[in-house]
Amino acid sequence: MPSKAYIDNVMNLIIQRNPREYEFHQAVKEVLESLKPALDRHPQYLENCLLERFTEPERVIMFRVPWIDDHGKIQVNRGFRVEFNSAIGPYKGGLRFHPSVNLGIMKFLGFEQILKNALTTLYMGGAKGGSDFDPKGKSDREVMHFCQSFMLELYRHIGPATDVPAGDIGVGAREIGFLFGQYKRITNEFNGAITGKSLNWGGSFLRPEATGYGCVYFAREMLKTRNEIFEGKVCTVSGSGNVAQFTVEKLLQLGARVPTLSDSNGTIYDPDGINQEKLIWVKDLKNKRRGRIREYIQKFPKAEYYEGKRPWDIPCQCAFPSATENEISEEDARTLLKNGCYLVAEGSNMPSTPGAVKIFLDNKILYGPGKAANAGGVAVSGLEMAQNAQFIHWSAGYVDTKLQDLMKEIHDNSYRTAQEYGYQGNLVVGANIAGFIKVANAMLELGLV
Ligand code: NDP
Repeated sequence: MPSKAYIDNVMNLIIQRNPREYEFHQAVKEVLESLKPALDRHPQYLENCLLERFTEPERVIMFRVPWIDDHGKIQVNRGFRVEFNSAIGPYKGGLRFHPSVNLGIMKFLGFEQILKNALTTLYMGGAKGGSDFDPKGKSDREVMHFCQSFMLELYRHIGPATDVPAGDIGVGAREIGFLFGQYKRITNEFNGAITGKSLNWGGSFLRPEATGYGCVYFAREMLKTRNEIFEGKVCTVSGSGNVAQFTVEKLLQLGARVPTLSDSNGTIYDPDGINQEKLIWVKDLKNKRRGRIREYIQKFPKAEYYEGKRPWDIPCQCAFPSATENEISEEDARTLLKNGCYLVAEGSNMPSTPGAVKIFLDNKILYGPGKAANAGGVAVSGLEMAQNAQFIHWSAGYVDTKLQDLMKEIHDNSYRTAQEYGYQGNLVVGANIAGFIKVANAMLELGLV
């Protein structure tokens, strides 16, 4: 059977078997279509039904999470862990707490995570989990009660050599603390079953910074292919959470100008640019006071706030989506290009719709897909696992050097692979094929399991 027909058959099967899981369909379709050159060249994948096996999670766990709010009322949320693929290492991937969380979103994120983790060069399989619990507006006590109830089920499925969760949207330092505290209490073990831990109790230097810093390091490699640097470039950033904050921080260190941030309510535009001092204020607003980004204009009145808008119509040379999936529409992509943008590096997972990706690729701009550009977070999580296994910690400088080396390797591997398969400069094809071949070969070697 020709590769194209094989891909179409598998895609139809996935849509039939996973009805209404639209984000999962979207993520799988993008990957499978870009694997055609690899399937043409390596018939053993088709002969061994690798696509059917690769797109079916090894295990899906769904569970009830009951807890009591501050008014004494019983609340019930749904918990998930999708253990997608463990061919090259223990399952690894973040936990997301957001009201939009459903099985399709968990599966899309777990699926992307397999390829991302393979690209890091470390030994980690792919997983994702979370809940439709919304930490926004909840007291610390409510968040703790929820996390403890969530872990009361999750603990039996995870472990340092089995499955190692970390943070994602809505799961930051506070939530990781409550989750690990409960894990430790139930299992009576202090180990590396969760990453993103605080430095006080087993965390790695630079884990909070890793996704944002790593994304900028990746984009620096993209710019290098055109002999350019960040100095003086205008870079728009969306979101204002973990990834956005540290993306801005590294961009400022490299001499770029950053005029935007956003949250799910709207976007701020600061014509003077966000500087380190303003960024410290934003970190306090978002991480401690848990406020909204519109408060920025009260503190810095020269800035403007656009309710309900994303930052993509602000002119820039480089764009760093760092909020959520499908946050760049086809129309946004056209606007970005019209205004002179020629680099998009994805801090968030699948932020560009298929139409937007097509526009970026057709116009041959520098486009770094999330699974490659935002792999720095899980890469440093892998380094945290290595440190935990040895009961040691490495210095911030050492971890930063390792992160820079890993991001360069992920870029170069994706770039080289794209070239090898006749798609010069197409990092989507390069990242998907490079990640897939590593996992697919491991699956062949491990037998039919
Ligand atoms: P945070 O929860 O720290 O921040 C998320 C940010 O995105 C907030 O500003 C949030 O606004 C905004 N946001 C969330 N949902 C939406 C939405 N539906 N529409 C508009 N804005 C939204 O999460 P992270 O920074 O950790 O994650 C951001 C992205 O990066 C996600 O796609 C995540 O999967 C990805 N990622 C994260 C990694 C990590 O290490 N943390 C690693 C790799 C990828 P609001 O406060 O209003 O909700």
